[in-house]
Parts: sequence; C-alpha cells; structure tokens
Amino acid sequence: MQTLTNRSKVVSNKKMTFGEWIYLPAIFKGMSITLKHFFKKKATINYPEEQREFSPVYRGQHVLKRDEQGRERCTACGLCAVACPAEAITMLAAERKPGEEHLYREEKYAAKYEINMLRCIFCGDCEEACPKEAIFLTDRIVEAKYQRKPFVYGKDILVEPVDADKRIDVTKRQTQNVLKFKQNKRFAHNR
Ligand code: SF4
Ligand code: SF4
Repeated sequence: MQTLTNRSKVVSNKKMTFGEWIYLPAIFKGMSITLKHFFKKKATINYPEEQREFSPVYRGQHVLKRDEQGRERCTACGLCAVACPAEAITMLAAERKPGEEHLYREEKYAAKYEINMLRCIFCGDCEEACPKEAIFLTDRIVEAKYQRKPFVYGKDILVEPVDADKRIDVTKRQTQNVLKFKQNKRFAHNR
C-alpha cells in the first residue's frame, strides 16, 4: 500500500543484546545524567520566599498618573484605546465643571476608565500613544483571581493615590529617548 507521507518506518523486531536485557547500562547512563544536573546551577527559585529582580522595563499593572498638584492627567482623548491591539481599554469622557480644576488637569477628563486585564497583553502601546503622560505600565503584578469580573480594573484601582508618598514611581519608564520623542511637535499627538 502506498503511504501518504515518506515518514513511515519499518519496525525492527531484533533481539535485545545481553547489555540491553539486563538494563544496567541504561540505568547507569540515566543516573549519570541525573548526577550531572545535581551540580548545575538551578534554573528555578523558591518563590515566594525568593523573588526575581524585574527588568527596569518590565510591563505590569497600569497606573493612571496625577500631576504635581494631584490632578488627573488623563484627558479622555481615547488614543490609548485606539492604539490598544487587544481592545482592552474603554472610557467615558466628561467635561470638567467650574470648581473641578483641582481634580482634573484638562477641560475633558475620563469619568470612567477601564482596562480588561484578561484581554491586555501588556504590550505598552497605550503608554506610547498617550500624549499626556497619563498612563504607564509599572512593575506591579496583576493579582490572580478566581473570577473574571474583578479583572476589569476601573479608576479606583488604576488612578494613583493623591498622597505624594504613595504615588507610583514611573521614572524608570521615562527614558531619555521616550521623553525626547514626546517633545517632538512634528507628531500631531505630541502637540
Ligand atoms: S498594554 Fe497593550 S494590550 Fe494592554 S491595555 Fe495597553 S495597549 Fe492594550
Ligand atoms: S491616551 Fe492618555 S490622555 Fe488619552 S485617554 Fe488614554 S490615558 Fe487618557
């Protein structure tokens, strides 16, 4: 019968040699491989007692930043949502009312801002697209949960605290190259 592929092999039914029959050489060979690995540097760590150091550019849970005066920087322009390849970001824009200048930096702000962490692939495109330095990815890990609903993070989780000592430090992500790029007024979204 003609085979569909040329990968078929003829099974050999040859008799075992004495060495193969007593299995000892194969057992010693296996033990020597195991012993060799005893003296190799371990690739694993005892988490959570030991923790690996993250790369300075690790992309974890997002933060919505405030400015120096504690006002929300986000102006609900939607550029992060448009840039998001996973369609993980949704928002609702609202107009700032007189007397709210201490809360929101721009005339328009995000009344609702949500990121679905189950959709997010932590690519960092939202951070790159933002013209207001409002959204950053941080070195914080998104906590594991048993249900889907709590993975939709709203402003209550995303916006950083007002207290200066509780703010989320993102200076590691604001590299010279990024800052230079964001000052380039040739790009419409930097104006
Ligand atoms: S990190 Fe990427 S996938 Fe996640 S919200 Fe931002 S743009 Fe979307
Ligand atoms: S791009 Fe920045 S300012 Fe615009 S909606 Fe997203 S986080 Fe807010």
